[in-house]
Amino acid sequence: MPPIATDNLLTDTDADSQSLELKIAPAPLRLVQFFVNTRANYIDHEDLEEPEDLARWLKDQGVAGKGISVTESDLRWAVEVREALRALLMAKGLGEEDPVGMTFRFDQHGSSAVVPVAEGVDGALGRILAVAFGADPEMWRRLKVCANPECRWAFYDRSKNRSGTWCAMAECGNVMKGRAYRKRRRAAAAAREDLWKTHGPPRALG
Ligand SMILES: [Zn+2]
Repeated sequence: MPPIATDNLLTDTDADSQSLELKIAPAPLRLVQFFVNTRANYIDHEDLEEPEDLARWLKDQGVAGKGISVTESDLRWAVEVREALRALLMAKGLGEEDPVGMTFRFDQHGSSAVVPVAEGVDGALGRILAVAFGADPEMWRRLKVCANPECRWAFYDRSKNRSGTWCAMAECGNVMKGRAYRKRRRAAAAAREDLWKTHGPPRALG
């Protein structure tokens, strides 16, 4: 069997070859991106392990004051909101330009308003969500999550036709392309076998 050509796995589109740095969204939308990326699935890294981590992060991003105090349940809530945001970015990446009827439900408060009037963690999270919902539609469309289900890192797609799919970690694009490539190979091998069953194996020309 000839060696598997791996060269074609590396031919990325313009969009895929953007560096991670270039894939940072413009302000203020990057706040949403950075929040989603406080968890890096790909390397199984969580920035928000403890309530103090969340407090520090919110202060660093300027969405909470110095005096903010964060409880365990605040932390769980923040992580829920974050994963809802990731899911929203994922859903809008599935071909629908502007998914209709998607909204955040604030079960905890029985209201779905996204107005940062609350104090503390709710207010800080509200500011992040307000950025998401107030984003310029074109910019919002460009904020995506990586197509690798094991990754889902949020990135900003600066390609001309918004065709970017991967977070820009070379591994992600290559892992997924490798998978598609192996699938195509398997399909081709199966088709060849079918052909042989019907017509017999190819004979040497002579
Ligand atoms: Zn990725």
